[in-house]
Parts: sequence; C-alpha cells; structure tokens
Amino acid sequence: MQRITKADFDHMQRIDEELMHRVLGELEGLDFASFTSRDVQAALQAKELSPVDFAALLSPAAGAYLEPMAQKAKRLTQAQFGNAVCLYTPLYIANYCVNECVYCGFNCKNHIHRGKLSMDEIRREYEAIAKTGLREILILTGESRSQSSLSYIGEAVSLAKEYFSTIGIEIYPLNVDEYAFLQQQGADFVSVYQETYDTHLYDQVHLSGPKCDFSYRFHAQERALLGGMRGVGVGALLGLGDFRRDAFAAGLHAKFLQQKYPHAEISFSVPRMRPYINRTDHGPNDVHEPQLLQVMLAYRCLLPFAGLNISTRERAGFRDNVVGLVATKISAGVKTGVGGHEEQEKGDAQFEISDPRSVREIREMLQSRGLQEVFTDYIRL
Ligand code: SF4
Repeated sequence: MQRITKADFDHMQRIDEELMHRVLGELEGLDFASFTSRDVQAALQAKELSPVDFAALLSPAAGAYLEPMAQKAKRLTQAQFGNAVCLYTPLYIANYCVNECVYCGFNCKNHIHRGKLSMDEIRREYEAIAKTGLREILILTGESRSQSSLSYIGEAVSLAKEYFSTIGIEIYPLNVDEYAFLQQQGADFVSVYQETYDTHLYDQVHLSGPKCDFSYRFHAQERALLGGMRGVGVGALLGLGDFRRDAFAAGLHAKFLQQKYPHAEISFSVPRMRPYINRTDHGPNDVHEPQLLQVMLAYRCLLPFAGLNISTRERAGFRDNVVGLVATKISAGVKTGVGGHEEQEKGDAQFEISDPRSVREIREMLQSRGLQEVFTDYIRL
C-alpha cells in the first residue's frame, strides 16, 4: 500500500472558505418533510429559484409533480441548449488510489488489479477513441499522486490535444498552480465530486488518505477556476447519505460558484451508488429512477445554463429519456477499466456500467429522437 505522510496534508493550499460555510449553513435546520404542495407549486412558478424553492423541488412533496417539473425543465433546456447533446467518453489511464473510501472498488484496501497506461498505450487508446468520431474526452486516474504524478497527467493531457478539442480531467484535487499547469497543457474542465456534504458521514466513509480533508476537496472547483480552467463539474454520490440533502448542497455549491465566477461553465453529474467489487447488495439510501429524475429536474430549474451529464451508470432507457429533456451531455462507448478501448484492460473497473452502447448506437438513438449529436462545441486557437 502507498504511504500517506503529513507532507501530503501540509501541501494542501487553503483558500477563502466562505463558499463552503454558506453551503453548510443552508443545510442547517433544513427539513424536507416540512414542504407542502403549495411550496412546490410556488417553486414551479418562480423565475429564479431561491434555496427554499430549490429545496421544495427536492422534497418528497415534489414527487407528485414530476410531470410539471419535467415540462419546465424541458423548456429551460431547449431555450439554453436547443436540441444539441454533446458526446464524450471517459478514459481511465490508471486506477491506483491512496484513499480508503468505504463505498468504492478502487479503495486502497481492496485487492483489485491495479494498472497504469504508458504514454504509448494512452496514444493508442486516444487513436481508437478518436476513430469513433468523439472529440471530447474525460481523463481519469484514481487518486494517487505518487502513481499518477502531475507530470504524468500533464503529459497525457498534452497528448490528448492532438486528438480532442475538449479535455476534462477527473483526478485528485490540486492546488491553484497545479491546475494552472494542467490548463496550460490543454485541460479545459475539472470534475470533483464531494460524494456527501454531510460532514459527519464524510468522516465515517473516508477512513484514510488525503480525501479525509473535506474542506480541501470542497474548494477544488474554485482552485481550478482560479488556475484558469474553463469549467468545473460538481456532484454528490447520490445514495451514500440522504440524497435530498446532498443534492441540495451540490446544487447550491454550483449556484454559488456560478455567482462568484460568472464566466465559468458549470456542470452537474448525478452519480448514484452502483454495485462494485466487494459490494453487490443494496444500501439503505439507494436512490431509484424517479428520485434521480427529480434531482436532475430540480438542478435544471435551479441553474438553466448548467451542463448536465448522464453517465453509463444508468440504463439505456433512462438515459434516452433524459437527453433533450434535461441532460445535455451523454457518454458513449464507455469502458471503466484501465484502458480497454484499443487493448486489453490493464486494471479492474471502478463500477459496473448499465449501458454498453457504442458511439454509433448512441448517435442513432439521438437522431431517432430528433436531437442533434455534437462532437465539439469548442475551437482551440
Ligand atoms: S472514490 Fe475515488 S478517491 Fe475514493 S477510493 Fe474510489 S477512486 Fe479512490
């Protein structure tokens, strides 16, 4: 196992924590059971949602209002994005991790097959992905500074520029100067998921590793924007704790970021707990599809401009129904092991996928629904 030292924590850059305190402050005293139909109807009429309106749309009372919420969300999505839906694929270039997250197959205590691609292997993966027509890629590593160093990730990003017009990264949180370095190498987007905004639960499920530092993770998006990144992704792992509270906090996290950095392209992801290595049962907080849809619709009503990604954790039928309605980006041709697009996977997968369709099949689905598949919406000068 890789050792974590005090220096790993000392290295963490601290920035103003005002945003985090605002989000956590909004959670205090929040009681979703107190919302009524009247609160939901008022929220549906609101032009801009207040935190209270947003909470109403996430409450159990809004479960009976999915249809009007969907109508509003569709209007907002079409007004901002038209019929366009962006396609991308994730590529795991490594799966080493130093964190002990009890809910994840990559957990450093799990005995899984670990691996890391060489630059030659990464190039072959990029070539195979680019051949499918995709021009947007999300590079993932697991979270290990020693195995997936900043320079290794920088090299992979720089290489990706030869094949892709938009490059996202989902790696361990960095300091501002480190994000600036990756932005200079060609990275556009940074996704970091807080997993849960319940600080007590956060401590219980992150047993060791740098991820134990809630605040450092919370401020990753802000440091990325200060480092010059064009956009950031926000999300909670729905089902880990109380999904309504976590969705509420993630929504406000995004909203406050947007207010503070109006130029930033903000997006949401809505990962749900999935079966993974060493966990095949169901958890007490599991989120079902109507609830997942409710969260997505509430996000759209809160932030009409925000991108909303739908991953292959979800089954094909659900994904097909949310693109155009509320989701603006969909993954295709996905592998969640290390590599696997061109060569044999070099490491185990993080979670099971539910929609194995190829890029061609996803394109056909979008076309059949009158949607326009978009491979690139950005020109690198
Ligand atoms: S959730 Fe992320 S940080 Fe935690 S064990 Fe999995 S890959 Fe590592």
